[in-house]
Amino acid sequence: MKIIHISAECYPIAKVGGLADVVGALPKYQNNAETTSQVVMPFYNNKFTQEHQFKTVHEGIVILGTDSLNFKILTLEIADLGFELYLVDIPDLLFKDYVYSENDTDRFLAFQIAALDWILQNKQLPDIIHCHDHHTGLIPFMISHANKYKQLKNTPSVFTIHNAQYQGWFSHDKIDLIPSFPLSHIGLLDWDNCINPLATAIKCAWRVTTVSPSYMEELKVKANGLESLINSESQKCIGILNGIDTNVWNPETDDFIVSKYCGANCDAGKKASKEWLCEKFSLDPKKPLFVFIGRLVEEKGADLFNELFNLALKNLDISILLLGSGNKEVEKQLTQLTSKYQKKYNAYIGYDEALSHKMYAGGDFLLMPSRVEPCGLNQMYSLRYGTIPIVNKIGGLKDTVVDISEDGFGIVHTENTVKGIYNSIKRASQFYNESSNFKDIRKTIMQIDHSWDESAQKYVSLYKSLIQNS
Ligand code: ADP
Repeated sequence: MKIIHISAECYPIAKVGGLADVVGALPKYQNNAETTSQVVMPFYNNKFTQEHQFKTVHEGIVILGTDSLNFKILTLEIADLGFELYLVDIPDLLFKDYVYSENDTDRFLAFQIAALDWILQNKQLPDIIHCHDHHTGLIPFMISHANKYKQLKNTPSVFTIHNAQYQGWFSHDKIDLIPSFPLSHIGLLDWDNCINPLATAIKCAWRVTTVSPSYMEELKVKANGLESLINSESQKCIGILNGIDTNVWNPETDDFIVSKYCGANCDAGKKASKEWLCEKFSLDPKKPLFVFIGRLVEEKGADLFNELFNLALKNLDISILLLGSGNKEVEKQLTQLTSKYQKKYNAYIGYDEALSHKMYAGGDFLLMPSRVEPCGLNQMYSLRYGTIPIVNKIGGLKDTVVDISEDGFGIVHTENTVKGIYNSIKRASQFYNESSNFKDIRKTIMQIDHSWDESAQKYVSLYKSLIQNS
């Protein structure tokens, strides 16, 4: 079985968030005697592409409305990712030092068309086309209805919603950019008088998955305007929990962290990591260290941080270290706090993969007061590194973290307000002082299996059921 994943992000080539981690891991777990899994993504101008050598496997011309753009498909000279990687190189549109911008319609439309043009001319057509998020949301429509992709009409498409907040809306004025199709199908592109790639994918994909079962249920009542669509298409929708790449995220082998450790020597390993962080960020290693890693947006609860951190740092004997970027006002507030709470609080505003690993290793608790969390990978990484997650009970967080009061291993709240999160931090700092319980729990959580094995198999079963019916 040949599976092609199509995505805007894939770790380690280009990463903005969890989408990259998933697309960089799932195909590895789907490569075996039975299945071959490939990834197709844009060729960006970044550290990875600058540091690697590529060869051209195809050249073509992508037609975007009245424009004809040259494109190439590149692959790595030395392939060592665990899956075959193909990069769509459209210099004027995709080869940028960013993944996303304010105006991405033409960029990702050209990407999707070029990817399909290339797939079509390959000797072996795929058995499954698996698309990820709205940047690839028009592919299920194009393979089912565009005149030039008729040969792919019977190829099953799977579409995974990693985040339904972002839908890729654009105006009907741009409809001519989409390869021609019988006009009777035009309604499939429309949602609320816009072309909505996410809605189109939900309508046209053979199967729609979300990255956790709870998120699937939540979308039926809250999906940024797509609730009725999710409900009407629910018979083909299923939630499959993301896994984590346990080779990349492994404190026993992680080259990013200062002292490698396993369950048996976790106290010593975590102590060394915490001391490193505290030294670097001028914090006191004796106090419980709460870390946050992520995008500073409302979805992650970041607008609450200024008030929350003020309250917690004034009243509790703790330290907080934050890594993230996003909303400029929130960034400013969180930077200002560093001078107000010297030696108790610090922040690195920006993106730093290596530092994130050090924080998963050196933190005592990970803060995740998200309002929306389709799956959330951070809590799974923190468990693997023996750092206790503090989460709001929603989405994937609900599916992966159980409160210590229910024989579980995390701190879970349902009131995701400043007061509610503050109470969780207070409970956590009390728990930190119950030294032996605290140490036992972190050894236990390191053993929880969140690898991709089971979920990758669920996807394969889903693909097989579609192939049988194609
Ligand atoms: P989302 O995709 O919504 O941002 P996830 O929890 O699914 O959230 O995945 C976030 C991923 O991005 C994790 O691998 C996390 O460590 C990483 N990440 C987020 N922000 C940063 C940052 N500022 N620096 C380094 N890694 C980050």
